[in-house]
Amino acid sequence: MEDLYQILGVPRDASQADIKKAYRQLVRQYHPDTHQGDAGAEEKFKKINAAYSVIGDPEKRARYDQFGSADGSNPFGGGFNGGFGDLFGDLFEQVFGGGGMGGGFGRRADPNAPRGGANLEMSLRVTLIEAANGTTRNLEIPNQDKCETCGGSGAKPGTKPKVCETCGGRGQVESMTRTPFGQFVSLNTCSRCGGTGKVIEEPCGTCGGQGKVRKIHKVEVKIPAGVETGTRLRVTGEGELGVNGGPKGDLFLVLDVARHEKFERDGGDLHTYLTLSYPQAVLGAAVEIETLIDGREKVGVPAGTEHGRVLKVKGKGMPRLRGARGRGDLYAHVLINIPTKLTDKQRTIIENLAKEMGDTVEPKEEGLFEKVKKLF
Ligand SMILES: [Zn+2]
Ligand SMILES: [Zn+2]
Repeated sequence: MEDLYQILGVPRDASQADIKKAYRQLVRQYHPDTHQGDAGAEEKFKKINAAYSVIGDPEKRARYDQFGSADGSNPFGGGFNGGFGDLFGDLFEQVFGGGGMGGGFGRRADPNAPRGGANLEMSLRVTLIEAANGTTRNLEIPNQDKCETCGGSGAKPGTKPKVCETCGGRGQVESMTRTPFGQFVSLNTCSRCGGTGKVIEEPCGTCGGQGKVRKIHKVEVKIPAGVETGTRLRVTGEGELGVNGGPKGDLFLVLDVARHEKFERDGGDLHTYLTLSYPQAVLGAAVEIETLIDGREKVGVPAGTEHGRVLKVKGKGMPRLRGARGRGDLYAHVLINIPTKLTDKQRTIIENLAKEMGDTVEPKEEGLFEKVKKLF
């Protein structure tokens, strides 16, 4: 992944004000309005914005500093759990570079060298049951294909992109800076060609000089049993197009497993509640418990089971991901059901039980509340 500081050309310890300054300068330099039809500049412009959306925000910047290049993190911040709808709009704007993106802009040796396309990342929400059983999803991924009209060159058929005269095809220009400490030669991205080393004089009418067109790709994705929130699935070749004949990037699906109303997951284990009546808890019972994907299971409740006791149902938790052996367990947390409505017979029995146990209880004729009311 490309370094976001490098994209904005600022050191890692730059102040927020300096970052903002650098960003404004770059935006002026690469604004699409002044680079119509220039794919390189547009790409750079997107990256600049994407980079600034992270390190321009002190909170996201801190997160990026901490996890930045770690593959598993998403430096572009939360907000990824809303399913597809809200994601698609942002997908192309928030493209971040994959491993194959090639070196930073500053020191690229050869702008004509093949470079792999950027990886894309997208979140995919599944239910807990789908995560337990595994599932297949047919996805429609907004993607890009090489423009067939121009074969990806971006130049009108019959014409070719020309070598940029400003930089001689190197994509960079040298400039001299005079400072109190002496003269410095610095390399800057060529503003004419945006660092691509090529200039398209007559852009292709189909793709407007981009060399690529947007297209929805239909992809069938197998989601293996045992996935968790944060599990990343790679869909090979569904990332961005490569540059100069480089390979396509990959698409990473970051799974988001929805909460279940009855089962809570803890790694490979599941937790649920088991409601027992007072007699069942006192005397013990064989009861049935609902499992996530195995239907109903018989569970032996020992006599004298207390409220809050946890009963273990072995092997009825989540499957482990990718062939790892065995399954987690299901833990049932006991709740003792206290009835609020009793038949006369039930009431008599419980009153007799109370007497037998020496408990004091409210007589049924006059509840506590009635008594309290009388006091006033
Ligand atoms: Zn084209
Ligand atoms: Zn140039």
